[in-house]
Amino acid sequence: EDKYTQSETDVLIIGAGPSGLMAAYWMARYGISARIIDKRDTKVFIGHADGLRARTMELFDSMGIQQRVIQEGSISTEANIWVPGPQGKLVRQAYINISRVDESPFSNTCLTQGRIERFILDSIREHSDLDVEYGVIAESLEYDEELRNDPNSYPITVKVRVLGEDDSNVEDRSEAAGNEMNRNNLLPDDWADLAQRKKLQKTQVESIKAKYLIGCDGAHSWTRKQLKIPVEGSNTDHIWGVIDVIPLSDFPDVRRLSIVTNTAGTILVIPRERGLVRFYVPVQTCEAGTTDRFDRSKITPDLIRERVQAIFAPFTFDFKEYSWWTVYQVGQRISAQSTKDNRVFLSGDAVHTHSPKMGLGMNMSLQDGFNVGWKIALAVAGTLKPEVLGTYALERHPLAEMLLELDRTWSPMFNDQKPEVVDTKASDMALIAAKFEDFADGWKVFYPTSSLVWKAEDNAEFAFARHMIPGERVRPVKLRNQAEGTPLWTTRSLESDGRFRILVLAGDIRNLMQKQRIETLTKALAGQSGSNTSPLDRYLEIPGRFKSPIDVLTIHAAPWKEVEFFDFPEILRPFDPVKGWAYDKIWCDDACIFDRYCDGTAYEKWGVDRVLGALVVVRPDQYIGWVGELGDLEGLTHYLDGILVKKFPTGEIDPFL
Ligand code: FAD
Repeated sequence: EDKYTQSETDVLIIGAGPSGLMAAYWMARYGISARIIDKRDTKVFIGHADGLRARTMELFDSMGIQQRVIQEGSISTEANIWVPGPQGKLVRQAYINISRVDESPFSNTCLTQGRIERFILDSIREHSDLDVEYGVIAESLEYDEELRNDPNSYPITVKVRVLGEDDSNVEDRSEAAGNEMNRNNLLPDDWADLAQRKKLQKTQVESIKAKYLIGCDGAHSWTRKQLKIPVEGSNTDHIWGVIDVIPLSDFPDVRRLSIVTNTAGTILVIPRERGLVRFYVPVQTCEAGTTDRFDRSKITPDLIRERVQAIFAPFTFDFKEYSWWTVYQVGQRISAQSTKDNRVFLSGDAVHTHSPKMGLGMNMSLQDGFNVGWKIALAVAGTLKPEVLGTYALERHPLAEMLLELDRTWSPMFNDQKPEVVDTKASDMALIAAKFEDFADGWKVFYPTSSLVWKAEDNAEFAFARHMIPGERVRPVKLRNQAEGTPLWTTRSLESDGRFRILVLAGDIRNLMQKQRIETLTKALAGQSGSNTSPLDRYLEIPGRFKSPIDVLTIHAAPWKEVEFFDFPEILRPFDPVKGWAYDKIWCDDACIFDRYCDGTAYEKWGVDRVLGALVVVRPDQYIGWVGELGDLEGLTHYLDGILVKKFPTGEIDPFL
């Protein structure tokens, strides 16, 4: 016991894959004492997951990293389906439009997980000193249930080992860098990272006490096993090979997302960055129903090449270069429980796995981490009521169920090769895609009613903003900055900086009655109306970050030329003696001559009256929490009271009690 160095942290994250890094992003944004460990000795550089759905891109925009993904990634606008035609030769039978420009500024984008991790890591470093501790493995977990109701206690003890030169599995932990790694495969910033890989030292051990633990440790989750949380489901009987190559092929859609089926099988063709194309190839089917692991050593890049050639025939296929390949057995698993007492949480592949052909695992894992991360961080900061943590399982578990249902419907499409099925495959696929479209793209998350999501029983909120639905995302729109005229998507202006955001949809302030309503509202926001405290000044600060956990953004609907920035009350455009006026706080739903996406239709898209406006609260993770009438500061305050911890200077009376 003595050899263990003892330490404490508020939050410990095990696993620095997509899910763990997203959770860590929030620790960085809120400035929380946290640690994140991973047994790999570096980040992922090549291969692994690669498909980003548009909703994930929207979240990346709110984090400020989306432009890097677009710059490097490959955008897929439709999925093409190829099947044998009347003469048996492959023909393009259909295409499914997977880009929905009316829904989102972003499309499905493919880029290696390694780059995505790079961008999140860079963002974490930009906002804090938090850094992933690589080459550190968690080895034992103790959890003291007695302490679970005391938010300031440390019920978790995790013993970790810094993997050193005398460890037997040193070879294993370097595998993440890829066997075919060479400098040409990497971009300079990743290469620098790899070159700085820590020199192996002597093995060290440490005992870390934590208030909260997030197990983001992947499909074989160590944390889940320690908690003895069961998983349901099993391996399916299909073995797949995946390879990233520069293709040499006369198949016309080799640089388009395609599903190619003939009697030799079905493959998935996914164009990627830097001329790479990924192929998902069925390589072996075990005895139906068997869950045995297969003999991995039999599968090689040459074998995968032959399988692609057989399915592509009579089109040609070959490659000289590949950057990464792997083999896996599809597993569909889910655990019913994703938390222990809301002190230990499981996130990402640790709670659900399915076939990579859905291209959703990383997206779901990123979004799980995003959901749980801000809640834990804000609870640790003392600003969020700890009971809100219960909404993680409530919100994410039904989506994991849905993911598996989609996978169960979709996967057989790739496995059943009977000629009569091949015929109807394209239309079947289109039907499934249509059924799950909103979910798969992430538009619909169906977050249910909770302290964080207020759905009025009589749907009263619909009267004010018909398409702003509590528990769903804010449909992205492009708005003009009132002071500058610059157009910007709301995915960017609603920055994921950790604060709740009140959207004052001010309507048309040329109308005198409306102007009066805004003045009444802003007086209350400023705490100048009778005994009411302002909601901006009512809750505990986010220590070291923000004086108030709430930000205000105003979006009005008058023509930009007919109102001025200074027509809005000062609380909506605060003044800082050093930084001047907050020009980024007033936005206008008006057309911009040089940007056709900024077309003055935001209020219509949101279902808001252009004169009367509405009031909306957006949660830190970019989902709508509350919607009401412009003047309903009381309703809004009730909502926030259920979530945030109030500060009451001595003697002050809570006006809403
Ligand atoms: P992981 O990425 O698995 O990360 C877990 C981390 O925990 C690892 O780094 C591991 O080293 C660490 N760890 C585990 N145990 C310990 C321990 N005891 N101590 C310390 N560290 C530990 N998804 C998509 O959305 N789109 C795709 O196109 C896509 N393609 C895929 C292709 C392939 C071939 C595969 C295999 C998966 C694909 N996926 C895809 C799925 C995606 O990779 C996963 O869903 C995603 O990586 C899960 O993220 P995670 O953070 O939950 O777990």
